[in-house]
Amino acid sequence: MFNIDMNGIDLEKVFDLIVLGGGPAAISCAIYAARFAMDILIIGKTFGGLIATTHVVENYPAITSISGQGLMNMFKDHMDSLNIPYISDEIQSIEKTDDYFILHSFFQKFKAKTVCIATGSERKKLGIPGEEEFAGRGVSYCATCDGPFYKDKVVCVIGGSDSAAKEALFLSQNAKKVYIIYRGGEIRAEPINKKRVYENEGIEIIYKTNIIEIKGNGAVRSVIFDNGKEFKVDGVFIEIGSKPNSDLAKRVGVKTNEKGEIIINRKSETNVPGIFASGDVANSPFKQAITGVAEGVIAAYSAFDYIKEIDIEY
Ligand SMILES: Cc1cc2nc3c(=O)[nH]c(=O)nc-3n(C[C@H](O)[C@H](O)[C@H](O)COP(=O)(O)OP(=O)(O)OC[C@H]3O[C@@H](n4cnc5c(N)ncnc54)[C@H](O)[C@@H]3O)c2cc1C
Repeated sequence: MFNIDMNGIDLEKVFDLIVLGGGPAAISCAIYAARFAMDILIIGKTFGGLIATTHVVENYPAITSISGQGLMNMFKDHMDSLNIPYISDEIQSIEKTDDYFILHSFFQKFKAKTVCIATGSERKKLGIPGEEEFAGRGVSYCATCDGPFYKDKVVCVIGGSDSAAKEALFLSQNAKKVYIIYRGGEIRAEPINKKRVYENEGIEIIYKTNIIEIKGNGAVRSVIFDNGKEFKVDGVFIEIGSKPNSDLAKRVGVKTNEKGEIIINRKSETNVPGIFASGDVANSPFKQAITGVAEGVIAAYSAFDYIKEIDIEY
């Protein structure tokens, strides 16, 4: 009996592995699983993930410099060369049965013997007045996407991480002036990016400062510092870290740490047999495309090993 969806996927079939996500951790897992001859499916809300939003990647081994989108296009080519099926959908919940997992999206159900959760993370919000009101009208979480709209304008980047430094460097290509507003004493960027920021005359860092409000009139006009000062800017780029997309994992009993990251071991296994995790959603201390790729590859190997060991027949 067949139940074929619009993508040509047989919804009655029990896949060996379903990978959740469309970023580097998910696609690398699927590429290895396909080469292990596993029957697999990728389900991703968006293809490319977070890395696709960054303007330049200079630390992915063997590729000196490439845009995030360009890197993910290469992942896609590799995935397509192996005919790996990809469905654009959002999984809402995972149900565990005695024999397999059922993954529920709003309209469909998918079945798999094993699951790899590579759902990444979501940008953290400041949670201050004006942030929601001016979202898309001066408040942004992606410099690559919105930076070009700020030609000859004054913008600020909130945060002090390597990502914040990279966002500021990108914005400085268009904006008249970029202020990094950081609550700490020294930005925590990779030394190479820190040096670029320090040497860039278009970037200035305002230390030990939080913003407590974003003000405007139809669009952003200023931010208010925690010392009460009003500071004129045309755009606010918020880069204060991210929150793991682990809620659906938690609901099926997968353990997370105090940050909400899925706890995995060196085999990318979670506490739930048959559920693996990789990338930014997991408790890896250093979250990069390459580390997510490695965890995804290990998850594929572990899922293969798991299926072999339990030798399920349907
Ligand atoms: C500004 C910036 C610059 C960066 N620069 C670099 C860099 O230069 N080099 C580097 O290595 N890393 C960089 N990073 C980090 C890198 O982007 C991440 O480490 C990497 O994208 C993590 O990959 P991932 O696959 O785990 O998650 P993500 O890339 O976040 O992908 C998660 C995927 O899961 C999907 N998803 C979420 N929920 C569901 C669901 N319920 N169902 C189905 N799909 C779902 C999402 O749509 C997305 O496709 C940067 C990050 C930022 C913010």
